[in-house]
Amino acid sequence: MSARSLAATVQELGRPDVVVLGAGQAGLTAAVAAAQRGARVLLLEKLDYAGGSTSMSSGLTAYAGTDEQRALGIEDSVESLKADILATGRHKSDESLVDVYCREQLATYRWLKELGVEYGHVHAASGQSVPRSHATDPSRMIDTLAKRAEGLGVGIVYGVRAFQLLLVDESVTGVVCEVNGALTEVRAGAVVLATGGFSRNTDLLERFVPHLVHAVHGGAPGSEGDGLLMGWKAGADFRDTPYVKGTFGIYPGDDPREGGTGILAVYKGAIAVSQAGRRFVDESSPYKAIGDACLELPEHVAWQVFDQTTMDRDDPEVHIYWFSGRLATGLLETADTLEQLAGKMGVPADTLRQTVADYNAAVRGERADEFGRTSMSGSAERPTEIATGPFYAHLSGASVLATYCGLTIDPETHVLDVYGERIPGLFAAGEVTGGFHGAGYVTGTSVGKAGIFGRLAGLAAAAHAGVTA
Ligand SMILES: Cc1cc2nc3c(=O)[nH]c(=O)nc-3n(C[C@H](O)[C@H](O)[C@H](O)COP(=O)(O)OP(=O)(O)OC[C@H]3O[C@@H](n4cnc5c(N)ncnc54)[C@H](O)[C@@H]3O)c2cc1C
Repeated sequence: MSARSLAATVQELGRPDVVVLGAGQAGLTAAVAAAQRGARVLLLEKLDYAGGSTSMSSGLTAYAGTDEQRALGIEDSVESLKADILATGRHKSDESLVDVYCREQLATYRWLKELGVEYGHVHAASGQSVPRSHATDPSRMIDTLAKRAEGLGVGIVYGVRAFQLLLVDESVTGVVCEVNGALTEVRAGAVVLATGGFSRNTDLLERFVPHLVHAVHGGAPGSEGDGLLMGWKAGADFRDTPYVKGTFGIYPGDDPREGGTGILAVYKGAIAVSQAGRRFVDESSPYKAIGDACLELPEHVAWQVFDQTTMDRDDPEVHIYWFSGRLATGLLETADTLEQLAGKMGVPADTLRQTVADYNAAVRGERADEFGRTSMSGSAERPTEIATGPFYAHLSGASVLATYCGLTIDPETHVLDVYGERIPGLFAAGEVTGGFHGAGYVTGTSVGKAGIFGRLAGLAAAAHAGVTA
């Protein structure tokens, strides 16, 4: 049931210049940017609340050259950010979209801060040569943006599912929505698809990524691929479906203590070991690559094993680094010795002891690491020995938290058809789009992509609708 009726909102607003679909990071930034430009904006969200996967996320956003990095003495550059994104994506990304991210990231960061978004500590994570994942409380960020949008006169209606685009002469002129089972047409100057990914649509996952059958399917309940389907029906192209991956670190199964997200102790000093007690991957790799390696193990799960030194790097501000929180939920095994820990994990104690001894010898530089690990994550920070008890182990599977593929867009966020032509009036931003990440994912570039391209999509849609500043 909508908090505000769609009809009443449209009557109050007048014919919208821009309709934005989805109230996650991409949709809210699009709505705020379009409204700041002077557009009449209607924002439709199918659930009864805003946030989508953005609110569930760890809130890490990848920026280079920020105040927070400078305060920590971290030297970073746009060139290094671009090189990391392209290398992690194995050069399968659309470079023109990566260029947009790199060009717009600092301006978007400043804009979001002016809107009231606050960033805390900066962490190193997947695919980063220097720490550049800026932590924020994602729910608070969503709240801040929703309030800003309302303050700018954006009509936000919850409980309205958009499911088809209106087309006149191959141009998008509005959207058909479903409210409490009834269909309503909303006409507008332009439409922005910001409906997120399809991590909760089993049919689409089975179609594109059948190898992820052993992965957990995470992401927000609204991530059902609606925008993708609407785009296809209007003739849109899509890309990067072969690169949907599972994220390593999630406790497998439906354990109610799970809390929706896992931990990545591997980026703070843990190793990943199989049920045989052996390492199987370079743990500094992007967590999607670790997820792939984990799914290839006979049991499709592995353990993150670490010591008190890593536990002391705990950061309650960031879910994936909140190890003590995990301990409190009972999802961490702990013991004073590695042998006792092995008993709790059900792995051979001798093998685990030898695995840790070999790893520590490599950290000390006495031998080459078996999997070539030389850093904590990406190429940032040096690994440390696993030597100081108590010791910890976290059972970890791979989970499809986000689908890094989707509709093809150009650098101005226009959705393109299968011939590479713009579909007039249709824009897209965030997880519903493909092309940016390529074959791999740098932590923080998904929330980053949603905000950066969301803002641009709002401005481009307003301009298409004839709104000039
Ligand atoms: C546990 C977890 C941790 C993560 N951590 C990080 C991280 O730290 N850093 C990072 O960069 N990325 C992270 N990600 C990924 C990232 O959160 C998302 O990719 C990103 O936030 C997507 O933003 P979005 O606005 O495109 O989509 P969403 O935030 O998912 O918003 C889409 C919205 O559209 C709505 N919607 C869907 N269909 C319709 C429809 N038909 N009509 C109207 N509304 C509709 C949905 O209900 C939803 O509210 C994480 C994801 C998860 C699940």
